[in-house]
Amino acid sequence: MYTGKTRNLGVMGWPIAHSLSPVLQNAAIEEAGLDYAYVALPVEPLKLPAAVEGLRALQFRGFNVTIPHKSAIMPLLDGIDEDARIIGAVNTVVNEDGFLRGYNTDAAGFIHALQDTGFEVAGKQVCVLGAGGAARAVLWALAKHGAARVSIGVRNPEKAKPLVELFRKYVEIEAFHWESEAFLGRLADAGLLVNTTPLGMHPHVDDMPPVRLSCLGKDAFVYDIIYTPAETRLLREAASLGHPVLNGEGMLAGQGAAAFRLWTGVDADVKLMEKVLREYLEVDR
Ligand code: NAP
Repeated sequence: MYTGKTRNLGVMGWPIAHSLSPVLQNAAIEEAGLDYAYVALPVEPLKLPAAVEGLRALQFRGFNVTIPHKSAIMPLLDGIDEDARIIGAVNTVVNEDGFLRGYNTDAAGFIHALQDTGFEVAGKQVCVLGAGGAARAVLWALAKHGAARVSIGVRNPEKAKPLVELFRKYVEIEAFHWESEAFLGRLADAGLLVNTTPLGMHPHVDDMPPVRLSCLGKDAFVYDIIYTPAETRLLREAASLGHPVLNGEGMLAGQGAAAFRLWTGVDADVKLMEKVLREYLEVDR
């Protein structure tokens, strides 16, 4: 039951009706027996400064930030955590007595889901497909956890140059056309292949990035951060070749769990969050 003492949390975005965060956060709140409520907050781009000040005035404990506000919100906050600064996007804000600090929990979500399988990134050669917003969080997680070398495969390597420049001080990194001979060589050396493109995402479930999986190192792990469908064509083909695979559900639940911990100081039940997400996605489809 909500009372006068219930603390408020939410997610701001535009549009926001599709957001899965209320489902997973409210499930975690209930499971932990905490007195918080989490709501969806539709915020038009031009209203972002007013919305941030409004949540500060309303003494929200914190909120998530999603498309299109993840970068635009940064100058409106009082402090930015290192992960968010390097990734260049905020997905979580914590309100400490009126001081709003921005965090990015995507990198933590990505790495925790991978570590949960027993996979160790340190010392591994990694191929990453795509160089958009999600790739930034993935690259930072890989750099922070000691990947030996990262090779980005994209349709337009020129466009990936700023990302390579940004991350080269943290990890050995290069970008290639994903069908080039050079990239095929990197696939052969890779211990981990990560897809950060939307290719294969619902409803275009027959798509997949044009990588030659037969060139991939024999025991390489294949991680697709897409979570709808649960098994993309890339994962299906990789699994049929005997590669261990992982989808994006754990990353999504993991970024939510990391935000939950920042607001409440309590560890969320990540497996419950994953289960609730999957059930919700199945019914919602
Ligand atoms: P994005 O910023 O649009 O970037 C996507 C990347 O994919 C870019 O490098 C883009 O290349 C490439 N790409 C897009 N469409 C392509 C196409 N038709 N052919 C070839 N390359 C294409 O997207 P994003 O925000 O990074 O998100 C990417 C995916 O990650 C989405 O499926 C999203 O659902 C998923 N995601 C999952 C989680 C999670 O928690 N599991 C979190 C965040 C995102 P160009 O620059 O050349 O267009």
